[in-house]
Amino acid sequence: MDTKDINLSAELKKYFGFSKFKGQQEQIIKELLGGKDIFVLMPTGGGKSLCYQLPALLSEGTAIVVSPLIALMKNQVDAVNGLSSDEGVAHVLNSSLNKSQTKQVMDDITAGKTKLLYVAPESLIKEEYLEFLKAVKISFVAIDEAHCISEWGHDFRPEYRNLKGIIDKIADVPVIALTATATPKVQDDIQKTLGMNNALVFKESFNRANLFYEIRPKINVDKEIVKFINQHKGKSGIVYCLSRRKVEEFAQLLQVNGVNALPYHAGLDQKLRVANQDKFLMEEADVIVATIAFGMGIDKPDVRFVIHYDIPKSLESYYQETGRAGRDGGEGHCLAFYDPKDIEKLEKFLAQKPVSEREIGLQLLNEVVGYAETSMSRRQYLLYYFGEKFDPIKGEGALMCDNSQNPPKLKDATQDLKKVLEM
Ligand code: ADP
Ligand code: MG
Repeated sequence: MDTKDINLSAELKKYFGFSKFKGQQEQIIKELLGGKDIFVLMPTGGGKSLCYQLPALLSEGTAIVVSPLIALMKNQVDAVNGLSSDEGVAHVLNSSLNKSQTKQVMDDITAGKTKLLYVAPESLIKEEYLEFLKAVKISFVAIDEAHCISEWGHDFRPEYRNLKGIIDKIADVPVIALTATATPKVQDDIQKTLGMNNALVFKESFNRANLFYEIRPKINVDKEIVKFINQHKGKSGIVYCLSRRKVEEFAQLLQVNGVNALPYHAGLDQKLRVANQDKFLMEEADVIVATIAFGMGIDKPDVRFVIHYDIPKSLESYYQETGRAGRDGGEGHCLAFYDPKDIEKLEKFLAQKPVSEREIGLQLLNEVVGYAETSMSRRQYLLYYFGEKFDPIKGEGALMCDNSQNPPKLKDATQDLKKVLEM
Protein backbone atom coordinates (compact mmCIF):
# COMPACT_ATOMS: atom_id res chain seq x y z
CA MET A 1 0.00 0.00 0.00
CA ASP A 2 1.19 3.53 -0.70
CA THR A 3 1.32 5.06 2.76
CA LYS A 4 2.38 8.55 1.73
CA ASP A 5 -1.18 9.76 1.49
CA ILE A 6 -2.34 8.39 4.80
CA ASN A 7 -2.22 10.67 7.80
CA LEU A 8 -1.56 8.04 10.42
CA SER A 9 -1.91 10.40 13.37
CA ALA A 10 -5.35 11.41 12.19
CA GLU A 11 -6.36 7.76 11.78
CA LEU A 12 -5.02 7.00 15.26
CA LYS A 13 -7.12 9.79 16.69
CA LYS A 14 -10.16 8.78 14.69
CA TYR A 15 -10.19 5.12 15.68
CA PHE A 16 -8.47 5.03 19.07
CA GLY A 17 -8.84 8.57 20.35
CA PHE A 18 -5.10 8.75 21.15
CA SER A 19 -3.25 11.92 20.26
CA LYS A 20 0.15 10.36 19.67
CA PHE A 21 1.86 7.06 18.97
CA LYS A 22 3.73 5.25 21.71
CA GLY A 23 7.35 4.26 21.14
CA GLN A 24 7.95 2.93 17.64
CA GLN A 25 4.31 2.22 16.77
CA GLU A 26 4.19 4.67 13.87
CA GLN A 27 7.30 3.34 12.10
CA ILE A 28 6.11 -0.22 12.61
CA ILE A 29 2.72 0.55 11.10
CA LYS A 30 4.24 2.37 8.13
CA GLU A 31 6.56 -0.51 7.33
CA LEU A 32 3.79 -3.07 7.66
CA LEU A 33 1.51 -1.11 5.38
CA GLY A 34 4.44 -0.83 3.00
CA GLY A 35 4.55 -4.61 2.76
CA LYS A 36 7.49 -5.55 5.01
CA ASP A 37 7.69 -8.49 7.39
CA ILE A 38 8.06 -7.15 10.91
CA PHE A 39 9.23 -8.50 14.25
CA VAL A 40 8.25 -6.50 17.33
CA LEU A 41 9.83 -7.03 20.75
CA MET A 42 8.17 -4.76 23.23
CA PRO A 43 7.46 -5.21 26.93
CA THR A 44 3.94 -5.94 28.15
CA GLY A 45 1.84 -2.80 28.13
CA GLY A 46 3.98 -1.26 25.39
CA GLY A 47 1.07 -1.11 22.95
CA LYS A 48 1.71 -4.03 20.61
CA SER A 49 -1.93 -4.65 19.63
CA LEU A 50 -2.25 -1.27 18.01
CA CYS A 51 0.67 -2.12 15.70
CA TYR A 52 -1.60 -4.55 13.82
CA GLN A 53 -5.06 -3.23 14.69
CA LEU A 54 -4.65 0.17 13.09
CA PRO A 55 -3.06 -1.10 9.85
CA ALA A 56 -5.76 -3.77 9.64
CA LEU A 57 -8.46 -1.10 9.87
CA LEU A 58 -6.73 0.86 7.09
CA SER A 59 -6.15 -2.07 4.73
CA GLU A 60 -8.28 -3.73 2.14
CA GLY A 61 -9.20 -7.27 3.10
CA THR A 62 -8.96 -9.11 6.40
CA ALA A 63 -5.95 -9.37 8.70
CA ILE A 64 -5.58 -12.74 10.40
CA VAL A 65 -4.51 -12.40 14.03
CA VAL A 66 -3.12 -15.55 15.61
CA SER A 67 -3.43 -15.48 19.38
CA PRO A 68 -3.09 -18.29 21.93
CA LEU A 69 -5.92 -17.64 24.38
CA ILE A 70 -9.63 -17.49 23.66
CA ALA A 71 -10.15 -15.08 26.56
CA LEU A 72 -7.56 -12.66 25.17
CA MET A 73 -9.10 -12.85 21.71
CA LYS A 74 -12.59 -12.11 22.99
CA ASN A 75 -11.37 -9.04 24.88
CA GLN A 76 -9.63 -7.69 21.82
CA VAL A 77 -12.54 -8.37 19.47
CA ASP A 78 -14.90 -6.51 21.80
CA ALA A 79 -12.43 -3.64 22.06
CA VAL A 80 -11.97 -3.36 18.29
CA ASN A 81 -15.69 -3.59 17.61
CA GLY A 82 -16.14 -0.73 20.06
CA LEU A 83 -13.86 1.44 17.89
CA SER A 84 -16.05 1.43 14.84
CA SER A 85 -19.71 1.99 14.16
CA ASP A 86 -19.65 -0.65 11.41
CA GLU A 87 -20.68 -4.13 12.45
CA GLY A 88 -18.47 -7.18 12.15
CA VAL A 89 -15.17 -5.27 11.93
CA ALA A 90 -13.55 -7.88 14.18
CA HIS A 91 -14.46 -11.53 14.62
CA VAL A 92 -13.18 -14.66 16.28
CA LEU A 93 -13.21 -17.88 14.31
CA ASN A 94 -13.12 -21.02 16.42
CA SER A 95 -14.95 -24.17 17.37
CA SER A 96 -17.06 -22.42 20.01
CA LEU A 97 -19.17 -20.88 17.23
CA ASN A 98 -22.28 -22.67 16.02
CA LYS A 99 -23.14 -23.10 12.33
CA SER A 100 -25.03 -19.86 11.86
CA GLN A 101 -22.43 -17.84 13.76
CA THR A 102 -19.68 -19.31 11.60
CA LYS A 103 -21.68 -18.44 8.49
CA GLN A 104 -22.11 -14.86 9.71
CA VAL A 105 -18.34 -14.52 10.22
CA MET A 106 -17.63 -15.92 6.78
CA ASP A 107 -20.26 -13.71 5.15
CA ASP A 108 -18.80 -10.59 6.80
CA ILE A 109 -15.32 -11.51 5.60
CA THR A 110 -16.52 -12.20 2.06
CA ALA A 111 -18.40 -8.90 2.05
CA GLY A 112 -15.18 -7.13 3.01
CA LYS A 113 -16.58 -5.89 6.34
CA THR A 114 -14.21 -7.77 8.61
CA LYS A 115 -10.83 -6.14 9.10
CA LEU A 116 -9.52 -8.38 11.89
CA LEU A 117 -10.07 -12.10 12.24
CA TYR A 118 -8.74 -13.64 15.47
CA VAL A 119 -7.90 -17.33 15.34
CA ALA A 120 -6.11 -19.83 17.54
CA PRO A 121 -3.48 -21.83 15.66
CA GLU A 122 -5.39 -25.06 16.21
CA SER A 123 -8.38 -23.57 14.37
CA LEU A 124 -6.27 -22.38 11.51
CA ILE A 125 -5.32 -25.91 10.51
CA LYS A 126 -8.95 -26.98 10.13
CA GLU A 127 -9.49 -27.86 6.46
CA GLU A 128 -12.80 -25.98 6.12
CA TYR A 129 -11.33 -22.73 7.50
CA LEU A 130 -8.16 -23.11 5.49
CA GLU A 131 -10.05 -23.54 2.23
CA PHE A 132 -12.22 -20.54 3.04
CA LEU A 133 -9.32 -18.27 3.98
CA LYS A 134 -7.42 -19.22 0.82
CA ALA A 135 -10.30 -17.88 -1.24
CA VAL A 136 -10.74 -14.46 0.41
CA LYS A 137 -8.62 -11.32 0.46
CA ILE A 138 -6.12 -11.32 3.33
CA SER A 139 -4.26 -8.09 4.13
CA PHE A 140 -1.56 -9.52 6.41
CA VAL A 141 -1.01 -12.02 9.21
CA ALA A 142 -0.21 -10.97 12.79
CA ILE A 143 1.21 -13.49 15.22
CA ASP A 144 0.68 -12.20 18.74
CA GLU A 145 2.50 -13.76 21.72
CA ALA A 146 4.94 -15.14 19.17
CA HIS A 147 7.20 -16.57 21.91
CA CYS A 148 4.69 -19.47 22.10
CA ILE A 149 6.64 -20.81 19.10
CA SER A 150 9.77 -21.36 21.18
CA GLU A 151 10.59 -23.97 23.77
CA TRP A 152 12.93 -21.37 25.23
CA GLY A 153 9.99 -19.12 25.96
CA HIS A 154 7.79 -19.29 29.02
CA ASP A 155 4.64 -20.48 27.31
CA PHE A 156 5.53 -22.95 24.58
CA ARG A 157 2.61 -24.16 22.46
CA PRO A 158 3.34 -26.91 19.96
CA GLU A 159 0.51 -25.73 17.66
CA TYR A 160 2.49 -22.54 17.04
CA ARG A 161 5.37 -24.40 15.45
CA ASN A 162 3.49 -25.19 12.22
CA LEU A 163 2.24 -21.70 11.60
CA LYS A 164 4.68 -20.92 8.82
CA GLY A 165 3.44 -23.75 6.62
CA ILE A 166 -0.19 -22.85 7.20
CA ILE A 167 0.30 -19.17 6.49
CA ASP A 168 2.14 -19.98 3.28
CA LYS A 169 -0.84 -22.02 2.16
CA ILE A 170 -3.32 -19.24 2.88
CA ALA A 171 -1.68 -16.26 1.24
CA ASP A 172 1.54 -14.54 0.29
CA VAL A 173 1.17 -11.51 2.54
CA PRO A 174 3.34 -9.65 5.07
CA VAL A 175 3.69 -11.20 8.52
CA ILE A 176 4.07 -9.28 11.76
CA ALA A 177 5.18 -11.26 14.82
CA LEU A 178 4.95 -9.69 18.26
CA THR A 179 6.16 -10.71 21.69
CA ALA A 180 7.13 -9.39 25.11
CA THR A 181 9.75 -12.11 25.42
CA ALA A 182 13.08 -10.83 24.27
CA THR A 183 15.82 -13.27 25.15
CA PRO A 184 18.13 -13.66 22.16
CA LYS A 185 17.40 -17.41 22.08
CA VAL A 186 13.67 -16.94 21.80
CA GLN A 187 14.08 -14.19 19.25
CA ASP A 188 16.30 -16.36 17.12
CA ASP A 189 13.95 -19.31 17.40
CA ILE A 190 10.92 -17.25 16.38
CA GLN A 191 12.65 -15.78 13.34
CA LYS A 192 13.94 -19.15 12.18
CA THR A 193 10.66 -20.99 12.70
CA LEU A 194 8.65 -18.33 10.91
CA GLY A 195 11.23 -17.90 8.16
CA MET A 196 11.49 -14.23 9.06
CA ASN A 197 15.22 -13.74 8.89
CA ASN A 198 14.79 -10.72 6.66
CA ALA A 199 12.12 -9.12 8.80
CA LEU A 200 12.59 -5.61 10.13
CA VAL A 201 13.16 -5.93 13.87
CA PHE A 202 11.80 -3.32 16.26
CA LYS A 203 12.99 -3.77 19.79
CA GLU A 204 12.17 -1.52 22.71
CA SER A 205 13.95 -1.43 26.03
CA PHE A 206 12.79 -3.93 28.62
CA ASN A 207 13.99 -1.80 31.48
CA ARG A 208 11.26 -1.19 34.06
CA ALA A 209 12.93 1.64 35.91
CA ASN A 210 10.28 1.96 38.61
CA LEU A 211 10.59 -1.63 39.82
CA PHE A 212 12.80 -2.41 42.82
CA TYR A 213 14.39 -5.87 42.66
CA GLU A 214 15.32 -7.70 45.85
CA ILE A 215 16.36 -11.25 46.68
CA ARG A 216 16.39 -12.58 50.25
CA PRO A 217 17.58 -15.92 51.53
CA LYS A 218 14.62 -18.16 52.21
CA ILE A 219 14.76 -18.15 56.00
CA ASN A 220 11.63 -17.63 58.10
CA VAL A 221 9.92 -16.89 54.84
CA ASP A 222 6.35 -16.94 56.22
CA LYS A 223 7.20 -14.37 58.88
CA GLU A 224 9.20 -12.23 56.49
CA ILE A 225 6.34 -12.03 54.02
CA VAL A 226 3.72 -11.28 56.67
CA LYS A 227 5.96 -8.50 57.96
CA PHE A 228 6.51 -7.12 54.48
CA ILE A 229 2.80 -7.12 53.69
CA ASN A 230 1.97 -5.45 57.00
CA GLN A 231 4.44 -2.71 56.12
CA HIS A 232 2.44 -2.25 52.89
CA LYS A 233 -1.00 -2.43 54.48
CA GLY A 234 -3.93 -1.86 52.14
CA LYS A 235 -1.71 -2.00 49.06
CA SER A 236 -2.31 -4.43 46.19
CA GLY A 237 0.13 -7.28 45.82
CA ILE A 238 0.68 -10.73 44.35
CA VAL A 239 2.45 -13.64 46.06
CA TYR A 240 3.56 -16.38 43.67
CA CYS A 241 4.09 -19.95 44.93
CA LEU A 242 5.09 -22.93 42.82
CA SER A 243 2.53 -25.44 44.11
CA ARG A 244 -1.23 -25.27 44.44
CA ARG A 245 -1.00 -26.70 47.94
CA LYS A 246 1.36 -23.92 49.00
CA VAL A 247 -0.97 -21.33 47.51
CA GLU A 248 -3.84 -22.53 49.67
CA GLU A 249 -1.77 -22.94 52.82
CA PHE A 250 -0.16 -19.56 52.51
CA ALA A 251 -3.36 -17.70 51.64
CA GLN A 252 -4.80 -19.16 54.84
CA LEU A 253 -1.78 -18.19 56.86
CA LEU A 254 -2.07 -14.63 55.60
CA GLN A 255 -5.78 -14.55 56.44
CA VAL A 256 -5.06 -15.79 59.97
CA ASN A 257 -2.56 -12.95 60.23
CA GLY A 258 -5.16 -10.37 59.33
CA VAL A 259 -4.21 -9.93 55.67
CA ASN A 260 -7.07 -9.65 53.21
CA ALA A 261 -5.74 -12.38 50.91
CA LEU A 262 -7.29 -14.89 48.50
CA PRO A 263 -5.91 -17.95 46.69
CA TYR A 264 -5.79 -18.49 42.92
CA HIS A 265 -4.71 -21.58 41.01
CA ALA A 266 -5.92 -23.70 38.12
CA GLY A 267 -7.18 -26.45 40.44
CA LEU A 268 -9.77 -24.24 42.09
CA ASP A 269 -13.37 -24.44 41.01
CA GLN A 270 -13.79 -22.17 37.97
CA LYS A 271 -16.39 -19.98 39.70
CA LEU A 272 -14.27 -19.46 42.78
CA ARG A 273 -11.20 -18.74 40.70
CA VAL A 274 -12.96 -16.05 38.70
CA ALA A 275 -14.56 -14.63 41.85
CA ASN A 276 -11.20 -14.37 43.60
CA GLN A 277 -9.59 -12.75 40.60
CA ASP A 278 -12.44 -10.23 40.35
CA LYS A 279 -12.22 -9.42 44.06
CA PHE A 280 -8.54 -8.68 43.63
CA LEU A 281 -9.18 -6.52 40.57
CA MET A 282 -12.02 -4.69 42.34
CA GLU A 283 -9.89 -4.07 45.46
CA GLU A 284 -12.06 -6.20 47.70
CA ALA A 285 -8.96 -8.27 48.39
CA ASP A 286 -5.53 -6.72 48.83
CA VAL A 287 -3.39 -9.73 48.11
CA ILE A 288 -3.72 -12.65 45.74
CA VAL A 289 -1.67 -15.76 46.47
CA ALA A 290 -1.28 -17.60 43.19
CA THR A 291 0.49 -20.07 40.98
CA ILE A 292 1.77 -18.90 37.61
CA ALA A 293 -1.75 -19.58 36.30
CA PHE A 294 -2.53 -16.06 37.49
CA GLY A 295 -1.63 -13.03 35.46
CA MET A 296 -1.63 -13.44 31.70
CA GLY A 297 -3.82 -10.71 30.26
CA ILE A 298 -4.51 -9.19 33.65
CA ASP A 299 -3.93 -5.47 33.72
CA LYS A 300 -4.18 -4.04 37.24
CA PRO A 301 -2.18 -0.83 37.16
CA ASP A 302 -1.56 -0.33 40.87
CA VAL A 303 -0.01 -3.63 41.99
CA ARG A 304 2.58 -2.38 44.50
CA PHE A 305 4.48 -5.59 45.14
CA VAL A 306 5.11 -9.02 43.63
CA ILE A 307 6.57 -11.58 45.99
CA HIS A 308 8.04 -14.89 44.90
CA TYR A 309 7.68 -17.31 47.77
CA ASP A 310 9.59 -19.81 45.62
CA ILE A 311 12.17 -18.83 43.05
CA PRO A 312 10.72 -19.20 39.52
CA LYS A 313 11.93 -21.70 36.92
CA SER A 314 13.31 -19.12 34.50
CA LEU A 315 14.34 -15.47 34.43
CA GLU A 316 11.83 -15.04 31.67
CA SER A 317 8.92 -15.99 33.94
CA TYR A 318 10.46 -13.93 36.74
CA TYR A 319 10.52 -10.88 34.48
CA GLN A 320 6.94 -11.43 33.28
CA GLU A 321 5.63 -12.01 36.81
CA THR A 322 7.47 -9.10 38.43
CA GLY A 323 6.36 -7.00 35.46
CA ARG A 324 2.83 -7.05 36.86
CA ALA A 325 3.97 -4.61 39.56
CA GLY A 326 3.93 -0.86 39.04
CA ARG A 327 2.20 -0.80 35.65
CA ASP A 328 1.05 2.75 36.42
CA GLY A 329 4.66 3.84 36.78
CA GLY A 330 4.37 4.04 40.57
CA GLU A 331 6.16 1.98 43.20
CA GLY A 332 6.67 -1.71 42.46
CA HIS A 333 8.66 -3.85 44.87
CA CYS A 334 9.75 -7.25 43.56
CA LEU A 335 10.88 -9.51 46.36
CA ALA A 336 11.95 -13.12 45.78
CA PHE A 337 13.06 -15.73 48.28
CA TYR A 338 15.92 -17.94 47.27
CA ASP A 339 17.00 -21.29 48.68
CA PRO A 340 19.46 -23.49 46.77
CA LYS A 341 17.43 -26.47 48.03
CA ASP A 342 14.50 -25.26 45.93
CA ILE A 343 16.74 -25.41 42.90
CA GLU A 344 17.66 -29.00 43.74
CA LYS A 345 13.96 -29.85 43.93
CA LEU A 346 13.33 -28.30 40.55
CA GLU A 347 16.29 -30.21 39.12
CA LYS A 348 14.89 -33.48 40.44
CA PHE A 349 11.59 -32.65 38.86
CA LEU A 350 13.31 -31.96 35.54
CA ALA A 351 15.16 -35.27 35.73
CA GLN A 352 11.87 -37.04 34.94
CA LYS A 353 11.38 -35.09 31.72
CA PRO A 354 12.47 -36.00 28.18
CA VAL A 355 16.10 -35.09 27.45
CA SER A 356 15.55 -31.98 25.33
CA GLU A 357 13.08 -30.49 27.76
CA ARG A 358 15.39 -31.33 30.65
CA GLU A 359 18.37 -29.64 29.07
CA ILE A 360 16.47 -26.48 28.33
CA GLY A 361 14.99 -26.52 31.83
CA LEU A 362 18.40 -26.92 33.48
CA GLN A 363 19.94 -24.11 31.52
CA LEU A 364 17.07 -21.78 32.36
CA LEU A 365 17.46 -22.74 36.02
CA ASN A 366 21.19 -22.00 35.92
CA GLU A 367 20.44 -18.50 34.81
CA VAL A 368 18.02 -18.09 37.71
CA VAL A 369 20.72 -19.23 40.13
CA GLY A 370 23.16 -16.75 38.62
CA TYR A 371 20.68 -13.94 39.08
CA ALA A 372 19.80 -14.91 42.64
CA GLU A 373 23.43 -15.22 43.70
CA THR A 374 24.86 -12.25 41.86
CA SER A 375 26.25 -9.25 43.67
CA MET A 376 26.03 -7.00 40.65
CA SER A 377 23.11 -4.74 39.71
CA ARG A 378 20.06 -6.99 39.32
CA ARG A 379 18.70 -4.73 36.63
CA GLN A 380 21.94 -4.98 34.69
CA TYR A 381 21.90 -8.77 35.01
CA LEU A 382 18.28 -9.07 33.96
CA LEU A 383 18.63 -6.73 31.00
CA TYR A 384 21.80 -8.45 29.88
CA TYR A 385 19.75 -11.64 29.78
CA PHE A 386 17.44 -9.85 27.33
CA GLY A 387 20.40 -8.86 25.19
CA GLU A 388 20.38 -5.28 26.44
CA LYS A 389 23.28 -3.23 27.83
CA PHE A 390 22.62 -1.32 31.03
CA ASP A 391 24.80 1.17 32.82
CA PRO A 392 24.56 0.22 36.52
CA ILE A 393 25.59 3.71 37.65
CA LYS A 394 23.84 6.07 35.27
CA GLY A 395 21.11 3.90 33.73
CA GLU A 396 17.48 4.66 34.46
CA GLY A 397 16.57 2.95 37.74
CA ALA A 398 20.21 2.18 38.50
CA LEU A 399 19.78 2.31 42.26
CA MET A 400 16.58 0.30 42.32
CA CYS A 401 17.81 -3.01 43.64
CA ASP A 402 19.19 -4.49 46.84
CA ASN A 403 22.71 -4.92 45.46
CA SER A 404 22.96 -1.37 44.15
CA GLN A 405 21.73 0.13 47.41
CA ASN A 406 23.87 -2.04 49.69
CA PRO A 407 26.69 -3.42 47.61
CA PRO A 408 27.69 -6.76 49.13
CA LYS A 409 31.26 -6.16 50.27
CA LEU A 410 32.47 -9.67 50.81
CA LYS A 411 31.89 -11.02 47.35
CA ASP A 412 33.83 -10.03 44.28
CA ALA A 413 31.43 -8.53 41.78
CA THR A 414 33.87 -8.75 38.90
CA GLN A 415 33.66 -12.53 39.09
CA ASP A 416 29.92 -12.31 38.61
CA LEU A 417 30.28 -9.97 35.73
CA LYS A 418 32.64 -12.40 34.09
CA LYS A 419 30.10 -15.16 34.56
CA VAL A 420 27.27 -13.18 33.05
CA LEU A 421 29.37 -12.13 30.09
CA GLU A 422 30.09 -15.76 29.36
CA MET A 423 26.40 -16.67 29.52
P1 ADP B 1 0.89 -5.11 24.88
O1 ADP B 1 0.13 -6.04 23.97
O2 ADP B 1 2.17 -4.62 24.30
O3 ADP B 1 1.06 -5.65 26.26
P2 ADP B 1 -1.46 -3.49 24.62
O4 ADP B 1 -1.59 -3.55 23.16
O5 ADP B 1 -2.39 -4.35 25.42
O6 ADP B 1 0.03 -3.77 25.06
O7 ADP B 1 -1.57 -1.97 25.07
C1 ADP B 1 -1.39 -1.58 26.40
C2 ADP B 1 -2.18 -0.31 26.68
O8 ADP B 1 -1.62 0.80 26.01
C3 ADP B 1 -3.62 -0.40 26.24
O9 ADP B 1 -4.44 0.08 27.28
C4 ADP B 1 -3.67 0.49 25.02
O10 ADP B 1 -4.95 1.05 24.83
C5 ADP B 1 -2.64 1.55 25.36
N1 ADP B 1 -2.07 2.21 24.17
C6 ADP B 1 -1.57 1.64 23.07
N2 ADP B 1 -1.12 2.56 22.20
C7 ADP B 1 -1.34 3.76 22.76
C8 ADP B 1 -1.10 5.12 22.35
N3 ADP B 1 -0.53 5.41 21.18
N4 ADP B 1 -1.45 6.11 23.21
C9 ADP B 1 -2.01 5.82 24.41
N5 ADP B 1 -2.27 4.57 24.84
C10 ADP B 1 -1.94 3.55 24.04
MG1 MG C 1 -0.51 -7.98 23.90
